[in-house]
Amino acid sequence: MAKSAVSTLIQWQPAAFFETRDATISCTLCPHACTLADGETGLCKVRRGRGNCMETATMAAAVCHSDPVERKPLYHFRPGSKVLTLAAPGCNLTCGYCQNRRLSQFGRAAGARWEAEPVDVNALVDRAADESAALGFSYSEPGLSAELLLAVAGAIRGRDIPLIWKSNGFLTPRAAHTLAPLLSAANIDLKSAVDEDMRRLSGGGLEPVLETIRIFLEHDVWVEISTPLIPGFNTETSQIRALAGIVASFGNLPWHLLRFVPEFRFAKYSPTPPALLQKARSLGREAGLDYVYVERALGAEGRGTRCPGCDTILQKREIWSATPTLHDPADCPVCGERIPGRWLKETS
Ligand code: SF4
Repeated sequence: MAKSAVSTLIQWQPAAFFETRDATISCTLCPHACTLADGETGLCKVRRGRGNCMETATMAAAVCHSDPVERKPLYHFRPGSKVLTLAAPGCNLTCGYCQNRRLSQFGRAAGARWEAEPVDVNALVDRAADESAALGFSYSEPGLSAELLLAVAGAIRGRDIPLIWKSNGFLTPRAAHTLAPLLSAANIDLKSAVDEDMRRLSGGGLEPVLETIRIFLEHDVWVEISTPLIPGFNTETSQIRALAGIVASFGNLPWHLLRFVPEFRFAKYSPTPPALLQKARSLGREAGLDYVYVERALGAEGRGTRCPGCDTILQKREIWSATPTLHDPADCPVCGERIPGRWLKETS
């Protein structure tokens, strides 16, 4: 980003991911599949029809700063490493509890204004290289910055700069197949095990999210899953079991249980009690998940990676930081169990 004052003017740029048929423009980026007239914006408010083409507002960033990878959260991907993180305004879902609503609900929520700067892609990649950081897209929906991701990937030119996402996973299979080969890791939200509840919560269906997870895994993206546990919404034992079962159906993926804080349109719900997070962690383990994490409510114990073979703690974490102790190949020094993940090589 340029260092000048943050711009409140949208600079529309040519978009990919659309089809034009009989003078009708259809967006192919997410399952909402908006059909747009000239000048009309989609549900996300950051893509619009323009003549026979489509334009995007998201070659820009409202946020560009260094974060620890643990903040995404990604716990089995280069622990302790830095991520230069970008976010443009906009989201294709409308979750009633969104903590980043001033950014994500641009054009829809009070106070969610456009404030972003065009991204200088080459300068951004040079900065990530200088800082030995990955490049991340987070805080709003990174899928809406698909064209920026393509441009950034092109500018990396063989340098070791992983691209990572924190995403709602609400993409078309076509977009997921196109973008996944560019990504090294993603944390994807699984908000509900029931399609109807997912729609009520977020305005989007469940199956596209599951399909995105399948596609990302097929393309060898390292995937971790996050679930906000909202008392009275998705915290019945049967609901948590169903969520854990879905995560386990993809393999032994790290599962992050997020403490819900009353916000926005979900102010009437209560915060998640620590005992509920503890119970959900046990249910996750019963479902066969060895790596179920709780960031804060259970203290350091909730953040540590234990060997499922002998219960030795192999990787401790602070909130949003870690001194890496798991390195590639991540074999438990006590019992030899291999810990899945993408770990850095140990430097001598
Ligand atoms: S990304 Fe989704 S919400 Fe936005 S214009 Fe395309 S189809 Fe519509």
